[in-house]
Amino acid sequence: MVVAIDGPAGAGKSTVARELARKLGFRYLDTGAMYRAAALAAERAAGRTPAQAAREATIELTDDRVLLNGEDVTELLRRPETAEAASRIATDPELRAVLVEKQRQLLAQGDWVAEGRDVGTVVAPGADVKVFLVADALERARRRAFELGRDVDAVLREQELRDRRDAERPHSPLRAADGAVVIDTTALSIGEVVERIAALVER
Ligand code: C5P
Repeated sequence: MVVAIDGPAGAGKSTVARELARKLGFRYLDTGAMYRAAALAAERAAGRTPAQAAREATIELTDDRVLLNGEDVTELLRRPETAEAASRIATDPELRAVLVEKQRQLLAQGDWVAEGRDVGTVVAPGADVKVFLVADALERARRRAFELGRDVDAVLREQELRDRRDAERPHSPLRAADGAVVIDTTALSIGEVVERIAALVER
């Protein structure tokens, strides 16, 4: 079974998806972490295109760590410059194809809560449950700023840029998948969002 959770940065996807996976006993796939790891791989592989670098890299995800070619890069991936680099390479269709393939291989076995921008539209259009999380832009920036211990205005500016790139890229732009349930998380707690999605899974 696959539960696909998509939406813009800061809509609560990661926290909700991780919590939901724990509750259901499913595995958790953070596809954004793969884009971030690919950005780091590309930065380190001079002369290679992002797609080549990602194809050659081994990206392993556990519940809370990311290993790039065996090295724990979890903390490095949280840096704003890596988020920015990930957002830029995510517009490259070749790179996307490499990561989508890796994601499909993972999702082929077992039960998953998978989270990102294109899980319900591209990676797993046949997912059993599809959810699209949205939230007010300022509220999303506040959440991210709190999480990262950063200034809200700076996070809001970066977020606007990344949102625009996600929405406007010609190849798999961010949008709610057909059949996705849209949940506005602005005024909801994490627990409430998890409950709503769990109810869809159990239906
Ligand atoms: O979700 P997160 O902020 O970690 O994702 C990093 C970047 O990777 C995003 O800004 C987005 O552009 C890109 N991404 C994507 N497709 C996904 C997951 C992330 O394009 N499925």
